[in-house]
Amino acid sequence: MRLNVCEIFYSLQGESTFSGLPCIFVRLSGCNLNCSWCDTRYAEEECHSMTLEQIQDKVGAYNCNLVEITGGEPLLQEATPALIALLLEKHYQVLLETNGSLSIQHVPEACIKIVDVKCPSSKESHTFLPENLNYLGKEDEIKFVIGSVEDYEFAKAMIEQKLSGMPQKKIHLSPVLGLIAPEALARRIIEDNLHARLSLQQHKIIWTPDQRGV
Ligand code: SF4
Repeated sequence: MRLNVCEIFYSLQGESTFSGLPCIFVRLSGCNLNCSWCDTRYAEEECHSMTLEQIQDKVGAYNCNLVEITGGEPLLQEATPALIALLLEKHYQVLLETNGSLSIQHVPEACIKIVDVKCPSSKESHTFLPENLNYLGKEDEIKFVIGSVEDYEFAKAMIEQKLSGMPQKKIHLSPVLGLIAPEALARRIIEDNLHARLSLQQHKIIWTPDQRGV
């Protein structure tokens, strides 16, 4: 089995409850969406075909137990669940970052899914697959990337209507750098006592926003 890989690198996890932990990232190539503020367009073009074993070897070169499979959209490729299963078998803790438009049903349960819900400013807010809510495990997380007040209201409505049973700390609202001030988002979360948390894209604060491999 092979996967199209954009890049494999070692950095700090930046956008979940694992934020701040050293993490190996396997960025897979290709995406089925076209978010207006996408910051990883290069994952569309850069592509190295690798076997699951080659990926495992590359991951094994780092002295780290946490691996995130990301993209692009990792679930576009058929072999992604098999890679996750292989890494879990090797006792890695595995995170999967997915855009929410494809089913997470066949992702191994022990993998922690970080599922995006696209908001209106992305121009892809129609793409969330509602059945994914049925497949969320108790460790899984939901992320709304917020670029406008309309996005905030969209996220708030979904959180109140569909996510009240999820732990608050696992529902992330993350501001798009340059579109909405973190302070403005923080203020709304506090005022509404929203069942969610503010998550800042840590790697964009530590390093320059467009820096790769971090
Ligand atoms: S889903 Fe992610 S990788 Fe795909 S276009 Fe949107 S932001 Fe970019």
